[in-house]
Amino acid sequence: MQKIENYINGELIAPSSGNYIDNIEPATGKIYSLVPESNDKDLETAIVAAEAAKETWANTSLEKRAEILSKLADLIDENAEELAKAEAIDNGKAVTFAKAVDVYRSSANIRFFAQAGTQFASESHAMGNLAINYTLRDPIGIVGCISPWNFPLYLFTWKIAPALACGNVVIAKPSEVTPMTAYLFSKLCIEAGLPAGVLNILHGTGPSIGAPITTHPKIKAISFTGGSSTGAHITKATAGMFKKLSLELGGKNPTLVFADCDFKETVNEVVRAAFSNQGQICLCGSRIYIERPIYEKFKAAFVSQVNSLRIGDPLDEQTQHGATVSKSHMEKVLSYIELAKEEGGTILTGGKRAKVQGRCQDGFFIEPTVIEGLNNQCRTNQEEIFGPVCTLMPFDNETEAVTLANGTQYGLASSVWTNDLKRAHRVAKNIEAGIVWINCWLLRDLRTPFGGVKSSGVGREGGLEAMRFFTEPKNVCIKY
Ligand code: NDP
Repeated sequence: MQKIENYINGELIAPSSGNYIDNIEPATGKIYSLVPESNDKDLETAIVAAEAAKETWANTSLEKRAEILSKLADLIDENAEELAKAEAIDNGKAVTFAKAVDVYRSSANIRFFAQAGTQFASESHAMGNLAINYTLRDPIGIVGCISPWNFPLYLFTWKIAPALACGNVVIAKPSEVTPMTAYLFSKLCIEAGLPAGVLNILHGTGPSIGAPITTHPKIKAISFTGGSSTGAHITKATAGMFKKLSLELGGKNPTLVFADCDFKETVNEVVRAAFSNQGQICLCGSRIYIERPIYEKFKAAFVSQVNSLRIGDPLDEQTQHGATVSKSHMEKVLSYIELAKEEGGTILTGGKRAKVQGRCQDGFFIEPTVIEGLNNQCRTNQEEIFGPVCTLMPFDNETEAVTLANGTQYGLASSVWTNDLKRAHRVAKNIEAGIVWINCWLLRDLRTPFGGVKSSGVGREGGLEAMRFFTEPKNVCIKY
């Protein structure tokens, strides 16, 4: 059985406890590798390595840092097939999706921030003929990056790339549910010549290693992506420690379909927005509001399109809809489908575990599920399900649509489908969300601010926002 290893001080090493956790392939339900169960002792070893590397990395030239990061991006591209396959096995996602999205975006993240590091400038503020202020932006030192299982390598690199480009040293924890590509990535770090101790990757569970990272006094900033309740837990655990926190949390994103949309394109894209990655994207549109005059027509076309999604072995290049990430997650999603029925919902398609023959017969597959007949306040429409489940609801006018869209505790992303330019601008202004897509979904420019409002998070990632988060500003005021 393959044993995954931690990456500390430039070396691949076993956890100090000698303990491992089973790593299960979601498509088969079978254990296929072992994940280190790291603890405080491993963290201390990583802290010593990071401390030793801190000053040299902070003083390494921008060009040299960019060169090493660019080499890492190239190595991801060179190993794209292997990484995509590993992600599909580890996470259950379709291999074609893993290649086109996860792996492609991982190298894009690193290449983008390698360049951003060389372009990053700080401000200066002149005070007439009295004085000039300029802002120094120094690396913070040791930072912690904790990422979830839905885009294992993609979200991992989205955090560590800006942190490293800014000259920080990093202690990172991937999700214990999907550790494989971070492990493969640590081998690429060695090949790329990343100096020892600059990046340290510790595998293990939230309680065993995630929590110690967040509360360690030498780790001055935490960039976390995960569920809102974990985010709340981290906020409490670090209260009074004066750490910088960036929290990218859950979503329950609305999709607003107006009668004047481009019908065919909208149906295609709204299906993609609801079910990509088995609905396990924080940005998925799971509450779909449709203007009443086209509700029935949209519903029929939508359900027909959902029924055409090919469910199957993630390693089959024809598969569009793979497995959900774990047995417990599958059970959670299925329990929400039962709840939706109890709340009066009608299942239009899907609604149960999907059977895939052959090697995947015990896999954690769920049929793409569409539900109608629920009100906006029910738990199905209020709580994040994070699976292949969406609800359809009619609305009568723009004001009602915006009120329904804003009627949850979340505010991460949204999409609006209309050809009325003025309405598009008005709705974009009035929606409570960090991201509004008009006539598109998941169109990403890495320079833009990324993050949510309300229970969806605190702070923003992406572009300058990330560079600012991972640096400490210091104002220098010089009197003439
Ligand atoms: P979790 O919050 O369960 O876990 C996220 C990460 O935090 C994992 O590595 C986890 O480890 C770790 N962790 C768990 N408990 C602690 C703790 N007490 N202290 C420190 N770290 C801890 O989220 P999921 O992995 O289940 O991911 C799904 C969630 O992530 C969804 O809510 C989704 O919306 C959100 N998400 C948000 C995004 C955004 O950009 N806003 C993007 C993608 C996902 P372990 O795996 O061992 O539990």
